[in-house]
Amino acid sequence: MLKNLIGKLRKAPVKEFPTPMLMNTFARLPISFTRGKGTTLWDNDGNEYLDALGGIAVTVLGHCHPKVSETITEQANKLVHISNLFQVQEQTDLSDKFCQIAQMDRVFFGNSGAEANEVAIKLARKYGNDKGIETPTIITAHNSFHGRTMATLSATGSEGLQKGFHPMLADFIHVPYNDLAAIEEHIDNSNVVAVMMEPILGEAGIILPDEGFLKSLREMCDANNWLLILDEIQTGMGRTGKWFAYQHENILPDVMTSAKALANGLPIGACAAQGLAAEVLTPGTHGSTFGGNPLACSAAKTTIDVIESDNLLDNATNIGDFLKTQLTQKIATDGKVTSIRGKGMMLAVELNKAYSDLAIKFLQKGLVVNVTGGGKVIRLLPALIMTESEARSIADTIQAVIAKL
Ligand code: PLP
Repeated sequence: MLKNLIGKLRKAPVKEFPTPMLMNTFARLPISFTRGKGTTLWDNDGNEYLDALGGIAVTVLGHCHPKVSETITEQANKLVHISNLFQVQEQTDLSDKFCQIAQMDRVFFGNSGAEANEVAIKLARKYGNDKGIETPTIITAHNSFHGRTMATLSATGSEGLQKGFHPMLADFIHVPYNDLAAIEEHIDNSNVVAVMMEPILGEAGIILPDEGFLKSLREMCDANNWLLILDEIQTGMGRTGKWFAYQHENILPDVMTSAKALANGLPIGACAAQGLAAEVLTPGTHGSTFGGNPLACSAAKTTIDVIESDNLLDNATNIGDFLKTQLTQKIATDGKVTSIRGKGMMLAVELNKAYSDLAIKFLQKGLVVNVTGGGKVIRLLPALIMTESEARSIADTIQAVIAKL
């Protein structure tokens, strides 16, 4: 059925994609991309698409950025893997640069977002254990998403995602997002060691907290000797117009995590910490075979360098604002649109209800987006290199698709 929907508008017939040997974990769309350049993708029939999703907030520099590709090629010919038994120069170089942009003191590199959050959770537990707390407890938010491993799934505030995988790891308390009073209710619980939050809820549908929420949360954590852990896996690496979203409020978390866009597509995750939190993990307390390998680290270093040299933080702010304005002008009065929101290159259009095959309808018009938030939220996570004319084209396509729903 989906196949025919795409086939109707694209020139060539849509192929069968039998995947019986793959574990059945993804409801994949019947489309296969074979090539990408900048913000353009091509499918295996040569059809062209404008990519407003960037591999779910990953390809910040667009697909196959020449400088990143050159770095990967050079490094692949020099040294791909050596292990953390030795000094890894590319990892050291990246740690300097990463700590500078994140304003952190130390960083651990793993291979994904979930792994980065695992480090943050372990660090918070050890921080508690070191203080004699036997059951250290972490406060997280309802509707949050922190990953699919057992610890990060336990932290994640979604019964739907947890269903079938119980028992969860104990000692997580979930509170409503953006609700300081709900967190404050736990100040007498001496087991609480940390609060872990996304600065903007990503998977839940780009939900922004009130201005000042993070700052007040920082103050509450300080007053109670709790660690503030910010999950910047989706919001980080320039997506909201600053390197990391906490920089909009001029605060620093004790611990932060990053992944997704960090190496523009090569798998890498980072958990960084500052102050006392940076000294919690000691030799032997954590590790990774692949984490911090020369290939991923050199690609990440180049990604950061290009964001810096090409002023892409400013572009994320300017083009993100432009896109939001375009969307507001073109669709805000459509009765099906209930909200247009977001920051920088992290935008959402919420509809009055879930419409079937919404992502497919966009693909038919040559635009790649994601639909999340119970099928009602069109999520846009384009590359930071997006131009005004591409932003206008995204808004035009969204207007055309919504008009026909
Ligand atoms: N945290 C947040 C905020 C995310 O958006 C994601 C992925 O969507 C993760 C953690 C998990 O990252 P990964 O899929 O790389 O494990």
